[in-house]
Amino acid sequence: MPYAARIQPGTRVRLKDHDPAESGGLDKEAGQKRFAELNAELDALQEELHAAGTHSVLMVLQGMDTSGKDGAIRSVMHNLNPQGVRVESFKVPTDEELAHDFLWRVHKVTPGKGIFGVFNRSHYEDVLVVRVHGLVPEPVWQARYEHINHFEAMLADSGTIIVKFFLHISKKEQAERLHEREEEVGKAWKLSAGDWREREKWDAYQEAYEDALSRCSTEAAPWYVVPADRKWFRNLAITEALVETLRGYRDDWRAALEDLSQAKLAELAAYRKLLEEKAE
Ligand code: ADP
Repeated sequence: MPYAARIQPGTRVRLKDHDPAESGGLDKEAGQKRFAELNAELDALQEELHAAGTHSVLMVLQGMDTSGKDGAIRSVMHNLNPQGVRVESFKVPTDEELAHDFLWRVHKVTPGKGIFGVFNRSHYEDVLVVRVHGLVPEPVWQARYEHINHFEAMLADSGTIIVKFFLHISKKEQAERLHEREEEVGKAWKLSAGDWREREKWDAYQEAYEDALSRCSTEAAPWYVVPADRKWFRNLAITEALVETLRGYRDDWRAALEDLSQAKLAELAAYRKLLEEKAE
């Protein structure tokens, strides 16, 4: 069984069916060992993605406050070559962004070929926070699920490999993490009264997530539910899903690199021949 649950297109997600504290039958030590192995493979896959330049990767991270989006980026990406990685964080939209359609700011920063792009929050905020707080009328956010599916299908058609992760934590674990931030001086900088205010809307958020995951998990851009109460397991589950996905492209990338190598060698041979002819 894969560690993260891939949502089959067209199925109805109930988050209560997914245990946030799941650990795949592993203890932390075994989990970290497996993580290290898979992470090394991810490193090699990124190298080939980057060199082949035929595809891009878009990893979307969503989750409640304290679910570990930042921590996941730090851990999962730590071995990758920074030259081929772009991380984009989506905050409250600026006036200029609000003056455009909701995908305008997103499309501008999608990863180009060879790049491993990470979205820390994403266009899904426009059917999450926007829906929960009623920032636009319901018909407007309702129409967005379909816009998102079309947008992602278009990116996929253009060679973008999309993987979307919902970091699933329990309400109890969130309370512990928020209290930890208050209690540990080194973590207080992460505090925000807004996190407690948002927590009051926990149920509305879970419902909004269930809709987004149910309506926008497609073959081309699947959602995964990642058990995230245990940080080590969250990192392992994300890495495993990424590696599983990217392995499917490895042969294509190697073939592209082989062609590239042959072309470069032929170019060099032609150049040397020309030199020899000149020297004669
Ligand atoms: P983070 O919590 O991701 O570490 P911030 O504390 O800056 O970073 O939070 C970003 C905030 O921006 C979140 O509260 C998020 O809900 C909000 N946000 C992101 N996108 C939108 C959007 N499209 N509309 C309204 N709010 C948004």
